[in-house]
Amino acid sequence: MTTVSNHLPTAELQALDAAHHMHPFTTNDELAAKGARVITRAKGIFLTDSEGNEILDGMAGLWCVNLGYGREELVNAATRQMRELPFYNTFFMTTHVPAIALANELAKLAPDNLNHVFFAGSGSEANDTNIRMVRTYWAQKGQPEKSHIISRKNSYHGSSVGSGSLGGMTYMHAQGGLPIPGIHHIGQPDWWAEGGDHTPEAFGLARAQELETMILDLGAEKVAAFIGEPVQGAGGVIVPPSTYWPEIQRICDKYDVLLIADEVICGFGRTGNWFGSQTMGIKPDIMTIAKGLSSGYAPIGGSIVSDEIAEVINAGEFNHGYTYSGHPVCAAVALENLRILQEENIIDHVRDVAHPALKAGLDKLAEHPLVGGVNLSGLMGSLPLTPHKESRAKFAGQTGTVGYMCRERCFANNLVMRHVGDRMIISPPLVITEAEIEEFMRRANKALDETYTALKDKDMLKAAS
Ligand SMILES: *Cc1c(COP(=O)(O)O)cnc(C)c1O
Repeated sequence: MTTVSNHLPTAELQALDAAHHMHPFTTNDELAAKGARVITRAKGIFLTDSEGNEILDGMAGLWCVNLGYGREELVNAATRQMRELPFYNTFFMTTHVPAIALANELAKLAPDNLNHVFFAGSGSEANDTNIRMVRTYWAQKGQPEKSHIISRKNSYHGSSVGSGSLGGMTYMHAQGGLPIPGIHHIGQPDWWAEGGDHTPEAFGLARAQELETMILDLGAEKVAAFIGEPVQGAGGVIVPPSTYWPEIQRICDKYDVLLIADEVICGFGRTGNWFGSQTMGIKPDIMTIAKGLSSGYAPIGGSIVSDEIAEVINAGEFNHGYTYSGHPVCAAVALENLRILQEENIIDHVRDVAHPALKAGLDKLAEHPLVGGVNLSGLMGSLPLTPHKESRAKFAGQTGTVGYMCRERCFANNLVMRHVGDRMIISPPLVITEAEIEEFMRRANKALDETYTALKDKDMLKAAS
C-alpha cells in the first residue's frame, strides 16, 4: 500500500502551528521559537515526521496506542459505525447497540463484582464522574457528610477542575484555583526518590499508613473514597513496594472507604494483566478507564463500578452525563480493540515475551553510569537518572534539566522517551516485538551516552548537597 502525503513544508507548518495552536502542558512561546515536530503518519510502533524521519514511539502516543498504529480493523469498525449510526445519545431512556455491547464486554473482562459502566469521553471526565458518584452514593445511603476524597501527592488523574483536584500535581493546583474543597493528598510510595534509608517494604507500609492517619484526622464518617493509580504513570512510573497496596486495601476495608483504582494507563494489559488492580492484588469498588480502552484510536473513557454502587446510584436519578457518553463510533472502536486484544493474546505477549525482553534490556541499561535503577511493571517503566547510584542522589541544579537533555538526545536519535523530572519513562505499544525492543534499547543507550558526555563537558555531573 502506498501512502501519499501532500503537505506544506515543515517550516510553514511550524509557523502556522505557532500562530494559532495552543498546546497542552507547553510553554507555547518556547515551542514557537523552536518549532514543533510535525508527525504526519505512523505504522506499527514507528512514527514518521514531516521530514521523513522514522521515530520509534517508546510512549505509545500518550500511553494509549497499545495495539500500535495502522490497525485496519479499528479503522473499519469506525467507518462501519459512522455509516450505520454516527451519533445518538444515551440520555432520556434511549440506548444503542455499541454502548450495550461495550458495557457487556467490559463487565465480562473486569474483575469480580465490577459489572456496570458509566461512559465518558476521557479519563478526566470519568474521574469527574467518580467524584460525583461516590459522594452521591453515600448521600443516598443517608451519609451526605461522608464526602471527602483522599488521593496522593504527585498522582495524575486528569486535567479538568475535578480530576485535576484529585491529582497531586502542585504546579497544576497553582493555576485556576485547584483543588476543589474536600480533596486531600497523602505521600506517594516513591521509594527511589523519597525512601531514604528505609527498606522499600518498610517505606511502602509507612506511606500506606498515612491513609489511616488522614482518615482518623478527618473522621472515617467523613471519608467517601481513596483514589490511586495501581502504578503511577505521569508522576514518573512509580511501581510501589509490595507492601503498599495490601495495606491500602486493609485500611479502606476497615473504615468503609471506597477504593477507586485509576486504571487509565494500567488497564487493558499494560502491567501484564487485564487490569493493574489484578497485578497489585486489590479489589477496587470503581475503576477509571480510558486511553488503552480504544488504543487511542477514538476518545472514550468510563467508570466501571461495583454491583453495590450501581444498585444505590440506580435507585435515584444521577444528574450527570456527557453528550458523548458511550459515543457509538468510539464504543465500536473500543469493542474491536478488545476483540483484538483477546484474539491475538496480547496480554500473554506482554507477560511472557515483551516484559521479560524489556526487563533484560533495561537491566542492561541500568549498568550505564547515569542510570540509578529500573522501575518496571509489565510494559510501563522508568529509569531514574543520577550522578551517584549508591546514594540515589539528585543532580545539583534545577530538577528536570538532565531529564530534558536526555529526552532531547532521544529525539535526536529518533526515539520518543519522555522525562518526568530527571526520570526517563517508557510505555511502548503492547505489540512491540523482541527485535523492536532491542532497537529501542540501542537508541536509548546512545542517547544516554550522549547525555553523559554533554554533562561531563558542562561539569554537570554533580550531586545536590
Ligand atoms: C491520562 C490519565 C488520565 C486523564 O485522561 P484524559 O483522557 O487525558 O482525560 C487520568 N488518569 C490517569 C492515570 C491518566 O494517566
